[in-house]
Amino acid sequence: LVSRKWRVKPTVLDLGDGVTIGEGTLALCAGPCSIESEAQMEKVMTHLVENGVRLMRGGVFKPRSSPYSFRGLGMDGLKLFHQMACARGIKIVTEVMQVSQVEEMHDYVDVFQVGARNTQNFNLLDALGGVDKPVMIKRGISGTIEELLSSAEYVFSGGNEKLILCERGIRTFETASRNTLDLNAVPILKEKSHLPVIVDPSHGIGIRDYVPAMALAGVLAGADGIVYETHETPETAASDGQQTLNFDESAKLVRNLRRVFALR
Ligand code: PEP
Ligand code: MN
Repeated sequence: LVSRKWRVKPTVLDLGDGVTIGEGTLALCAGPCSIESEAQMEKVMTHLVENGVRLMRGGVFKPRSSPYSFRGLGMDGLKLFHQMACARGIKIVTEVMQVSQVEEMHDYVDVFQVGARNTQNFNLLDALGGVDKPVMIKRGISGTIEELLSSAEYVFSGGNEKLILCERGIRTFETASRNTLDLNAVPILKEKSHLPVIVDPSHGIGIRDYVPAMALAGVLAGADGIVYETHETPETAASDGQQTLNFDESAKLVRNLRRVFALR
């Protein structure tokens, strides 16, 4: 069902208030790795509004490699995120980690993110198949393109056709970067599937200075959008500061992404 053989026309998602994802537009989504506080969100949202970015990412349930790392503000954080985003016309993209969270999060999110560690959590995918909200599925940490498409198929066949595919880098033998952003996946996914494809250069390379170049490359490779991490002070971010852009870097990237998109 996610194949081009079944549906030729590209899928375009309408999130309301003039925000769309898919063919013909460049979807920009930015925000911190983790939602940390009201003050932090206020600053990020002001930055996004100033730069015309309508989608904000930010985790309230964080999958961390160590149990001692910051694991997110949970539902209290999400409710505040929702209240502040609504007031500014910003749409929320945030990670859902388990089936029981789908229902409690439902009314407070615009796009459910399935993280790389949960791409093959088939119970979660089944649950999201029954929801009337867009789902962005990230490629698994060591997942193939075919496996990503199969995960999307779970959600789609469950009845939810509002899907976005996200290339976020895969684990390879290379240790010079956090992950290996597989830009090959972009044209391949675009050809195989009618679903929108978004690139996450932040997790894809994991090194702040190189994020803008990989974001621009993602657009040139044919991505329908970019999702990246930004924070007022990346050095003090609760997670992923090493790959997070400050607001100056983020504003410059947004300008350049629009320029590059216009060249396509
Ligand atoms: C994130 O978006 O912050 C995140 C945890 O991403 P991934 O699942 O791709 O590692
Ligand atoms: Mn992150």
